[in-house]
Amino acid sequence: DRMKAGLSKSREKFQESINVLTFSGPDVDDDFWDNLEETLIMSDMGARAATKIVEEMKDTTQRKALANADAIMDVLCDRIADTFTVAKDGEGLDQDPLCLLLVGVNGSGKTTTAGKMAAEAKGNGKTVVLGAADTFRAAAIEQLEEWARRSDVTIVERERGSDPASVCYETLEVAEREGADLVVVDTAGRLHTSADLMRELQKVTSVVRKRAACPVMTVLVIDATTGQNGLVQARTFNDALDLDGVIVTKLDGTAKGGIALAISYELGLPILKIGVGEGIEDLRDFDAHDFARALTG
Ligand code: GDP
Repeated sequence: DRMKAGLSKSREKFQESINVLTFSGPDVDDDFWDNLEETLIMSDMGARAATKIVEEMKDTTQRKALANADAIMDVLCDRIADTFTVAKDGEGLDQDPLCLLLVGVNGSGKTTTAGKMAAEAKGNGKTVVLGAADTFRAAAIEQLEEWARRSDVTIVERERGSDPASVCYETLEVAEREGADLVVVDTAGRLHTSADLMRELQKVTSVVRKRAACPVMTVLVIDATTGQNGLVQARTFNDALDLDGVIVTKLDGTAKGGIALAISYELGLPILKIGVGEGIEDLRDFDAHDFARALTG
């Protein structure tokens, strides 16, 4: 499948380092654990998640004698999967109606993800409205228009330089009128300064939360290829906007897929979807077990 193929580089990197560890059967020694922890950190999973996973594995191996490498890999896979934060029941993307505010730096894949989300929901028979609230870049508005055309959904847009909060306001009005199941708002990823951007996004978020008659999720779109930098970005956005979840893009063709775990665990945010390509259908539901398998082989 596309996710498995997409994560092949992350998997290769992981396997290269795990292969040099010698599995010494039931009596796994300290060196092994230290090396495993380092392997996990090198896979961009983050020091905290790596330590947690290794501690839990030590515990499991003490309780059960793990005879071979396969058994240890199975436990590793389970531990990785369980380390992801999951969305609380009823607080995920299956809410209907739902308004999604996509935030993230330029180039992270926000507009593409908005288009993919719209196409997916439309394909499931839902009514979708897109809001072009990245009014800073004319290209962003045009790009979103193109996605709206492709999946034949309504788009609310104004000229470049308009107030993004009022675009959001209007988007929600239109959505209400059309009885939309899903509203996806694309926001700016760059202003003059990062502080300006956060202020604008805070304003947009607060307007949308006040105006929306449906649940609102503020979702960070993050490019996996940025690796550890992605964690720093995610923390900045989360501090400013109190995020509800994350969509990780460009998992195809990066060896840094482990960053999804670092962000999810360290910031306590569920991964809501993953992007595995540039095409309209290259968006996947996130399944922690599938992901852990695809990552570790
Ligand atoms: P934005 O600035 O955040 O709106 O980012 P865009 O949606 O314009 O995406 C930036 C670039 O990343 C575009 O060339 C997209 O085609 C590409 N892109 C987005 N998502 C993915 C993905 O999951 N995989 C790959 N390979 N490319 C992606």
